[in-house]
Amino acid sequence: MSANLNPFEMAQRQFDEVADQLDLSSDTRALLRNPLREFHFQIPVRMDNGQLKTFRGYRVQHSDARGPCKGGIRFHPAETIDTVRALATWMTWKCAVADIPLGGGKGGVICDPSTLSVGEKERLCRGWVKQMWRNIGPRIDVPAPDVGTTPQMMGWMMDEYSKLVGNYTPGVITGKPLGGGGSLGRTAATGFGVVVTIREALKHLGINGKNTSCAIQGFGNVAQYAALTYKDMIGGKVVCVSCWDNADKKSYTFSKDDGIDAAFLQSITDQYGTINKAKAIEAGYKIEDADAWIGKDVEVLIPAAIEGAVNGETVKRVSKKVRLVAEGANGPTTPEADELFKKNGVFLIPDFLCNAGGVTCSYFESVQNDMNFYWSEEEVMQKLDQKMNVAFHKVLEMSKARKVYMRNAAYMVAIDAVTRAMQLRGWL
Ligand code: NAD
Repeated sequence: MSANLNPFEMAQRQFDEVADQLDLSSDTRALLRNPLREFHFQIPVRMDNGQLKTFRGYRVQHSDARGPCKGGIRFHPAETIDTVRALATWMTWKCAVADIPLGGGKGGVICDPSTLSVGEKERLCRGWVKQMWRNIGPRIDVPAPDVGTTPQMMGWMMDEYSKLVGNYTPGVITGKPLGGGGSLGRTAATGFGVVVTIREALKHLGINGKNTSCAIQGFGNVAQYAALTYKDMIGGKVVCVSCWDNADKKSYTFSKDDGIDAAFLQSITDQYGTINKAKAIEAGYKIEDADAWIGKDVEVLIPAAIEGAVNGETVKRVSKKVRLVAEGANGPTTPEADELFKKNGVFLIPDFLCNAGGVTCSYFESVQNDMNFYWSEEEVMQKLDQKMNVAFHKVLEMSKARKVYMRNAAYMVAIDAVTRAMQLRGWL
C-alpha cells in the first residue's frame, strides 16, 4: 500500500479514473462513490475466563441497485472501516462484472480469531448477528466468509439469525458448511475461478499453459485452490506459495523450483493458512523471505493474500519474465504498481473479475437454498466455469474496444451494469 493511500481511497481513485473516462454524470458518481449505508457497533462477548470483552464490528452496504448486498465478513486484528468500505465497493463491481443479481456489502470485526477459543468465536459470531439481524436477510444483505472466518462460523450466524427471526433461513448467509445449507464446490470456488480466468488470459496471450510457472502469495482458501487447480487445469507448475506465521509474527515464502505439491502443503497447513515450517523443511521446501514470491522467474503471479502486496516497492522485484498477474486477493496491487504493469505490457486480471468465483458460487448457494434443491459438485463447477468464462471475455472485449487496461475495462463493464439498474429503477 502506498504511504498515504488507504484501501478505500484506492477504490475511489480507481472509480474516479473510470468515471472520467465514461464521462459519468455527477448524480451517478455521488451515488456510487460512497457506500449507501454503514453500521458500526460494539459486540460484547463473555470470554472463557468469565470477563466481558467488547469487540468492534462493522457492516458496510455499498449498493443494492442490482439486488441484495453481498459480501464477506472479515475477522482481523488490523481491520479498519476504510478496508470494509473498499471491500464493499469492490463487491458491487464484482457482482456486476460476474453478472449475478446482487449488490455490494462487506463486514468485519477487529479481532485475532487465532487467539479465541471455539466457544469465544461462536459467541462473537452470534453477537455480530444480534447487532445486525434487522439489517441483513436473503432480500436485504447476505454475508459470507472472508479472511479469518470459516464455514462453521457461517453456520452459527445462520442459526442465530434463524432463531431471531423465528424461521429457518439458510439464504441469509452463504459459505455455510455442507449439510448445513452449504453448496458443493464453495470451498474451491474462488481459487478455481481465478484459474479459469488465467486459462482464458493465457489463450488470449497465445501462451501454452503447460510451459508456464506461477508464484502465489498466501496459502489460505483462495491460494490453496488456485495452486491445486493451476496444476490440474493449466498443466503448469506452481513454484512457491507464502503465508503469515503467527508465532514468528512475519511471513515466509515456501518454494520448490521443480514445483510445489499443493495437496501435501495443504495437509500441513492450519485453518488460518499457516504452513507448518518444520514439516515443510523436512519435505525439502526452501523457506525464503516474505516477498521472495514476487521476485520469482515465472510467467504468472497470483497475489492471493492481502491488500497492497504489490506496491511501489515490491513491484521493483517483479521479473521481466512475468506476463500475467491474476489478482486472487482483493486490492493487492496499488496504483503505482498498476502504472508499471501498464508500461511494461503485463496483462492484469483485476481482483473483482479474477476472484469473482467465490461470490458466484455463493450466489449458486443461495439459489439452491431458495429452491431447497441441491446440485452435484460437477454441476456447480460447470456453471461456475461458464460464468467466469463469460465475465472474463466481456471485460477483454471492453478492453479491446476502448483500448484500456483490463482493470479499467472491468470497471466500465461493472459501472455500466450498475448505472443501467439505477436508471431502470428510476433513481437517476
Ligand atoms: P485466508 O484467511 O484463508 O488466507 C489468507 C492467507 O494469506 C493465509 O495463508 C495467510 O497466512 C496469508 N497471509 C496473511 N498475511 C500475509 C502476509 N503479510 N504475507 C503473506 N501471506 C500472508 O483468506 P482467503 O479467503 O484465502 O482470502 C485471501 C484474499 O482473497 C483476501 O484479499 C480476500 O478478501 C480475497 N478473497 C477471498 C475470497 C474467498 O472466497 N475466500 C473470495 C474473494 C476474494
